[in-house]
Amino acid sequence: MTNIDDLAIEERIKELFEQNYEMMRLEGGHALSADTKQSALNQVLFYWRKLREVAENVTDTEVILSLPEQITPEGRKYTIEGVVDIIREQDQTTMYDIKTHDSDYVRGNVPEYEKQLNVYAHIWQGLRQQELDQTAIIATSLPVTLREAVRKDDQRYITKEIQRWQPLIDIPFNQEKVAETISEFGEVVDAIESRQFQPPSLEKLKGKLAGKKITFAVQVCRNCDARFSCSAYRRYVKSSSSQADSLLSRFLNDYGSDAEREDFLYANLENIPDIESFDI
Ligand code: SF4
Repeated sequence: MTNIDDLAIEERIKELFEQNYEMMRLEGGHALSADTKQSALNQVLFYWRKLREVAENVTDTEVILSLPEQITPEGRKYTIEGVVDIIREQDQTTMYDIKTHDSDYVRGNVPEYEKQLNVYAHIWQGLRQQELDQTAIIATSLPVTLREAVRKDDQRYITKEIQRWQPLIDIPFNQEKVAETISEFGEVVDAIESRQFQPPSLEKLKGKLAGKKITFAVQVCRNCDARFSCSAYRRYVKSSSSQADSLLSRFLNDYGSDAEREDFLYANLENIPDIESFDI
């Protein structure tokens, strides 16, 4: 049940979101389509509804962790930087990293996240000389079923899906592999600086992601802005088209699942300007 205070807080969140978005749009010169913007706002609102206790107890917000003067295997200098939230309760300190990722994906790929959080923990403990007891990821991407409930605007269904959603994932923290992880970051910096941007293999695109029933192509590529100019994605579409299909039409019309298309359509329809506002 939502009370008046909750509604006022959510209205304030919407205002702040709008201000933040406008500032980023002016600074970066990029706008979001209406459905993407709505989806971003939903992530913030549902994070608040689900993890209000965590959000209210954050003691250090958006802490910038920086590890400067790192050297890549090819001798380039670089800095590792991350932003985290910290909660100190009684004698317990927890570090949270908020990701716009899917919680099932995070659960299925914990070692990937463990590496990054271990480096942050290393900076926090080693350079800042602060205590740390626990690290965790908050995965804010809404599950498909919750998105479906929001789309239907069915409050009982939404409440049920919020209860089922588990966006908080504890990540074990282990300082033994920090040096190895930092070295891997260095290799990525070298690859970027020497302009090695080869996409992954077709097998990788067709492979299922750990912890998920769907493939890399569906989970990752469908959300990638570069997909229409990506050779691996082209090969993927070509290999999964039946002969009767028009390849070009499938390729250009691959805008995701039916639910994703509906999101896109409804959110953008609401934002179409009145016909009178067109200056013909
Ligand atoms: S479509 Fe994007 S995510 Fe997929 S392989 Fe190509 S560049 Fe990578």
